[in-house]
Amino acid sequence: MGELYADVIVDISHEKLDRPFQYRVPDRLQEAVETGMCVTVPFGNGNKLIKGYVVDLGEICKFDPARMKEIQGIVQGGVGIEGRMIALAGWIRKNYGSTMIQALKTVLPAKQSVKKLEHRTILRLMGREEVISLLGESRRKKQVAKERLLQELVRQESIPYEWVTGKLAVSPQTIKSLEKTGVIRIQSTHSFRNPVRLQQTEECGQVLSETQQNIVKTVMADFEEGHPGTYLLHGITGSGKTVVYMELIQEMVHRGRQAIVLIPEIALTYQTLLRFYRRFGDRVSVMNSTLSPGEKYDQCQRAKNGEIDVIIGPRSALFTPFPNIGLIVMDEEHENSYKSESTPKYHARETALEVARLHGASVLLGSATPSLEAYYRAQTGEYRLFTMKERLTGGHLPKVYTIDLRRELKEGNRSIFSRKLQELLGDRLQKGEQSILFLNRRGYAGFISCRSCGHVMKCPHCDVSLSEHNNGRIICHYCGYSEAKPAVCPKCGSKYISGFRAGTQQIEEKLREMFPGVRTLRMDADTTRTKDSYEQILTAFSNGEADVLIGTQMIVKGHDFPQVTLVGVLAADLSLSVSDYHAGERTFQLLTQAVGRAGRGVLPGEAVIQTYQPNHYAVVRAAGQDYEGFYQEEILYREIMGYPPASHMLAVQIFAKEESRGSSLAGHLAETVRKSFPEVVGECRDNAAGKGERQHGTQDKAVCGIQLIGPAPAAIGRINDIFRFVFYIKCPKYAKLIQVKDKLEEEWKLHPSQDEMIQFDFDPVNIL
Ligand code: ADP
Ligand code: ZN
Ligand code: ZN
Repeated sequence: MGELYADVIVDISHEKLDRPFQYRVPDRLQEAVETGMCVTVPFGNGNKLIKGYVVDLGEICKFDPARMKEIQGIVQGGVGIEGRMIALAGWIRKNYGSTMIQALKTVLPAKQSVKKLEHRTILRLMGREEVISLLGESRRKKQVAKERLLQELVRQESIPYEWVTGKLAVSPQTIKSLEKTGVIRIQSTHSFRNPVRLQQTEECGQVLSETQQNIVKTVMADFEEGHPGTYLLHGITGSGKTVVYMELIQEMVHRGRQAIVLIPEIALTYQTLLRFYRRFGDRVSVMNSTLSPGEKYDQCQRAKNGEIDVIIGPRSALFTPFPNIGLIVMDEEHENSYKSESTPKYHARETALEVARLHGASVLLGSATPSLEAYYRAQTGEYRLFTMKERLTGGHLPKVYTIDLRRELKEGNRSIFSRKLQELLGDRLQKGEQSILFLNRRGYAGFISCRSCGHVMKCPHCDVSLSEHNNGRIICHYCGYSEAKPAVCPKCGSKYISGFRAGTQQIEEKLREMFPGVRTLRMDADTTRTKDSYEQILTAFSNGEADVLIGTQMIVKGHDFPQVTLVGVLAADLSLSVSDYHAGERTFQLLTQAVGRAGRGVLPGEAVIQTYQPNHYAVVRAAGQDYEGFYQEEILYREIMGYPPASHMLAVQIFAKEESRGSSLAGHLAETVRKSFPEVVGECRDNAAGKGERQHGTQDKAVCGIQLIGPAPAAIGRINDIFRFVFYIKCPKYAKLIQVKDKLEEEWKLHPSQDEMIQFDFDPVNIL
């Protein structure tokens, strides 16, 4: 038997992760030891026996073999929380490609300096009347700062400390003096212990509809029988999915289990949170990107200590170290943000399944427009499908008009609003009903080109077109480069150089020209730099402070506007032209969601879809709110082309400081794949016929071919002066792609370099 060495992390606190210690694995343990296991090792000068975790195994001895210590034994018994997290990290490393340390850092919260961040709140101790009389007193005495604070205390019982010292500009001394006289008390709480002050817990369970009840029964029966499953809940917005989630969580909590609720950050509204708080009180906690690492660590400690049962948050909430998870809910399962964009590029859906496996937990995926992946698995029987078709909040599906923009132009309408949309907008303004105008791109995203010679203004560092901003400059959305907008074409001198004006700002301007006095709100990346501004715009619109809300992607998610009776989609096909195999799916999702915004209340709704491709199936099916029909057409395309979920795909991305070196490295790695895997068939379109015949879920094709595409410069060939190359490998078998990745990693380790970097992306959701 050859020698085997193990990298062991002896203490799991995060800052020590960078230093695993190597130990020899004695012969008697070689068969048994595995990555992720808890072992005992001698440590330090006294060789005291302590616990550690195996994070890697290999045959290469990195230190003096004579001085290397041996693993003493394997810790028997159930794996603890940390053991499970390590096993999870090992799984992520294997399936998505990264170092073990990167994977560990992904799943473990960073242990921060012990000093915990505190939230201080000022609580009013006296009755409102008493405060009012004090207010009069300080007014007379001209104590202006004290007056400001008292005035606020008349309005509310508790005020965040930072707000008082910051916004109200009241000094700590003034606050202290009020505390001394017993007017207020300063309360310290660890952040997010009590994110909302609750009057009482309410909403303790509605009477479930029969469909809802059936879902809960089925999931719980499988769970009780020891076969926790994966379920896809396909239900339109307002069909009662969230109520099902909460009911199931309740069932799990009753059984002493914990639940993780994943919600894309953008959809995590205050209203949704409140519903969970009302139901689960302070046993629920939130994780989001505004938490500091210290606060995140604090959250994890609370989960570990059993102080909370439910955590709500974006994909990283999946790594909450609960002792005994019973349910993982993934709402808006189709959202792209569930895929990590940095290494390891894990997908929360697959990772949730692994977490669930480690805990014996159920997984519930929910969406109004399921991802092709999830629906495909539901078709093949891997997931169980539940459907909820009715909106419980009332309202009807809107009437949809699809407008061919080419015809509009032909018939002399050069406006960005079709005649139908103009007519309906006018009608709504007259009736005092609200409308939403949706443009699926950002700001003044239009590029600048010359109408005489066709020259396009591009970023000198990134190779993408520059976008016009209203400050007279043109900027790069990747690296931030900006320059003054040229008055004449730098190439031919023509003065007909201008932008393709199709940003939200421009829509707003045109709308105001057409309907003087119209009240508008604009929501896009520029107007929502902070989380608060997003909520503020939504609230303002809900309160009827505007007639028309104009916005990009973000207005079609979450939030209900019962007063909206018209949705206009301008340029529906912008997202169809993206060179990405998800283009159809994204377009369908966006259009479906956008159209579904109209007619949520008692008034019937209408929607106008403006497009240059009125016959594209994504447009047609979205207009008909027909998910099933869309799925059938889309999956056929994926099968013919060998795209996920019909097959699997690995993107190998190469980053290099020098173009020639990047190019040759990409070539070399692609060649490595070709040499090491004789089944590679190269770019092979004639395979298509065979693929189309393949049945869902069967692996009956004898030869499991690997297809190699590229290498080529990435779609954006350069960002910040780093050159990017990419090649793709398609194969129906995921395990095969892991082998390819392992081989490439091995090859890369032979010639490591500071100036180049490679990354792996399995089943990429964004084309590089
Ligand atoms: P979704 O998550 O699918 O958008 P929700 O769970 O938020 O749907 O439900 C939509 C609305 O219907 C909510 O106001 C909710 O309180 C209500 N609702 C859900 N289930 C029921 C039920 N069984 N009885 C009465 N109202 C319900
Ligand atoms: Zn020109
Ligand atoms: Zn740039």
